[in-house]
This record gives sequence, structure tokens and C-alpha cells, in this order.
Amino acid sequence: MAITHIGQIARLGLIAPYTGRIGGMFLCLAGGPQMYRNMSLVGAAVLCALVGAAQAQGAGPVRSESVDDVIARVIREAASAENAPRSVLPVVMGARIGEHEDRTRFVVELSDPINIRTFSLSNPNRVVVDMPAVQWRLDGPPRPSGLGSVRSYRYGLFRPGNSRFIIDLNRPVIVSSPLVIPPEGGSGYRVVIDLSPTTQTRFDETAGWPADLRARESQAERLAAVAPASSGQTGRVAQKRIVVIDPGHGGIDSGTNGTNGLMEKDLVLDEAIRLAHALMQAGACTVHLTRDSDIYIPLRERRDIARSWHADLFISLHADSNPDRSVRGLSVYTLSESGSDREAAALARKENQSDVIAGVDLGGENSAVAPILIDLEQRDTLNRSSRFALGALARLKVATDVLLRDPHRSAAFAVLKAPDVPAVLIELGYLSNAEDAAQMVLPRWRNAVADAIAGAVDEQFHLRPAIDDATASTAKFTGQE
Ligand code: ZN
Repeated sequence: MAITHIGQIARLGLIAPYTGRIGGMFLCLAGGPQMYRNMSLVGAAVLCALVGAAQAQGAGPVRSESVDDVIARVIREAASAENAPRSVLPVVMGARIGEHEDRTRFVVELSDPINIRTFSLSNPNRVVVDMPAVQWRLDGPPRPSGLGSVRSYRYGLFRPGNSRFIIDLNRPVIVSSPLVIPPEGGSGYRVVIDLSPTTQTRFDETAGWPADLRARESQAERLAAVAPASSGQTGRVAQKRIVVIDPGHGGIDSGTNGTNGLMEKDLVLDEAIRLAHALMQAGACTVHLTRDSDIYIPLRERRDIARSWHADLFISLHADSNPDRSVRGLSVYTLSESGSDREAAALARKENQSDVIAGVDLGGENSAVAPILIDLEQRDTLNRSSRFALGALARLKVATDVLLRDPHRSAAFAVLKAPDVPAVLIELGYLSNAEDAAQMVLPRWRNAVADAIAGAVDEQFHLRPAIDDATASTAKFTGQE
């Protein structure tokens, strides 16, 4: 545990013994997400334990600890907590696929019995195994042969408190109710799910989200669409422009994987946070992120978040891959119906699959894979998007390598389709290219790119003059770390 964490805890420790229950609660709440983000999980857990203990002591009639006692105890507890399990979440210890002629059996092994349920989604055909938040401890999970009903599967966090397996199907199936087998012979709890082939018609009859989940998701969408209390309006009074940064993918959807193991979802989250800092340092923008942790957000919700904040600009961050590993460089995309070329259209299709990957129900008119139609009212928004894309590229090509051929491109990205919010999608580079992947792990590269984008944002809002190549060249990322 780093010293700063102990410092933070100790500082709170000084206060905690002298506050009553309400004071203690306030500490916990006021610490909130921001504080937790700045602390290790252990620190946060110890802090809560400390505040809880302090409350309990405060409630008792006699006992009190000196400040030194509290600090010593926190350090002691932090040290022992580092060695203890970090969480009491149930653990997924294993997964097996048994492929038989008449059925495919999917078995999940767990440390604790948990509520699991399954449902299926069509277009494309998938089975969702839905469960509370769990810890994943799968070493080299089994890969299906591809010959049975299971084409592939993935797992991870879908929403806070909600983990999932998503099983991609080769053919329509009937899904059995999950059967829970108690531990025996050293195994944990096993949940058995059988997938038996059926017709597409029968599959479609039952496909779709269960009613309560659908209600929860539309509730989440509504929440995303509701302007938060301290929203755009106050921002406008202060004349601050509002920028929403959208780190792509997240949680169960890891995006593209780099040749060096770098995952797109991690890269873009870190870059988004750096960009947010760069923008906030300049002080002229209010910045919001669509996600600030490793969690999946459906594409439509990302757009709704931008609209609810009345964003002046929406920047979605991604990284690309290409079967041709020599292809490299950054590119900036804006929305169009057709796409500037076949590759751009294919990329948009790939990025639009994000909801499919995470097991979002695409039923209804807002399908992420449905064609995107742009109405006339969007033309002005598109013009502003393009202006930003060009300004950003002028700076980015100084900071890093951009795609050789036409780095400003357009395609039908679902996440860019808010009619009234200028929006770009930046593919930071190719994780399939060794040089790109190597520089994308470097903090210095990430900062140079964040600064270039931040400069373009200021320029877009006339807070900074357009780029002067001679001065900007000093900011070039040199590859030296
Ligand atoms: Zn992506």
C-alpha cells in the first residue's frame, strides 16, 4: 500500500473517532466515488471498516482510541488486508463445455450458490447467463470446437452488481433451466445449462430480455437521458463548453486486443482520463465521461449521456486492428450513412457490434446494427463534427503518426448518432501493429495525444488559435520514454 493511501486513511482516522454515527456516514458518503478511485480497494475497504468501527465505538459508552492507536491499527489492518481476499464476491472457478450429439452442456463452477438465470437473444443468436457480480478466476477457459451449438463465449461485468456469460450460437437452441449441483469431491457448486438444437422460429418465440431486466435497462436509459442536477445549464451560465468523452467498450466487451496484450478497453479508459485532465487543466471546459471504470455501457446510452449533458462535443475513443499488421496510425471518424470506403464501413460495423458482444437486446427500432439514416437537421451537426475532426488531425499528426491514407474518414457509427451533438470517434492507432501497440502503452505518448486533442477542443470553441505547425512541432512525441 502506498504512503498516500495510509495518509488519507490516517487523516480520516483522526476525525472518525470524534464523530458520531451521522458524521461517520457523512465521511463514507462524502468520500464517494472520487475518493475511492484515488485509493486502492484495500484502502477503501479499510477506510469503511475504520469508519464503521469508529461509529460502533462512538455509540458505546466508555471505549475510545487515541489518534496514534487509530493510525497504528489502520496500518496493521491494511497490511493484513493486503494478504486477505480482496472481496467477498462469489468466485467463478471454472467453466466447461461438453459437446454431445443431441445437446451442448455448459457447466459453470462457483464458490457459492448464486442466483443464475438464462435467456436468449436473437439477431445474432446468443444465450445470456445472467448472475450477480462475481470474481472471475478462469485459467485458460475451454474453447468450443465450433462444431457444436456454441461458437464462442465471453464473460465479464455487464453493469455494477451484474456479471454475465454471453454464449454465441452456431444454431438456434432451447436453453434448459439452470440446474445447481451442490459441492462434492472437492468441486464447488456447479451450474449446468443444456442447449438443445431447435428451429429458428421456436428460438425467436422465446428470445428477448425478461420483463424485469427490460424494465431495468429502460430505466437505466431514462436515467442516462435525464440531465443530472448540476447539469449543462449551470455549465452554460458559467459559459463553459461541455465535452463528453466516451471511452469505448468496457466490462464484458474488451474491444480489440493488442499484440502486446494491451486491451482496447483499458487503453481508451486511461486515455479518456488523461484527456479529461488536460481539458480541465485549461479550465475552459466542463468534462464528463460516459464511463470511468471497467464497465460496459450500451451504445445508445452513451449517446443519451452526451445529450443529457447538452454536450457541445462528444469524443469517442477507440483503437483499431487490421489483418494487415503493417497498417498503422491514428484516424478520426465522423458520422455518415455510407462510409468513406469499404474499410471504414467495416470498421463501423465492428464497433457497432459492441452491444451484441455485451448481450444487449437489439430488438426494436434502435438496433445498433440497423442502417443509420441521417436527416437534414443533422447536417449542421455533421459540419461542426468535421471541422473538429480536421482541427484535431492537424494537431494529432504533429503529436503522433496518423493513418497514411485519408486519416479523416466517415462511417455509420451508432455511437455518433446524436442529432444535435457534434461527435467524432478517434481510433488512436492499430493494436495489431507492433509499433503502434508499443507506443500506445507509453504514458508520454498518451499525454501527447491527450494534449493534442485538448488543443483542438479549445480551438473548436475559439479559445485557442488554429495550430501553428512551427510551434506545435516541439510537442511531437519522439518515442523516447
Ligand atoms: Zn473500439
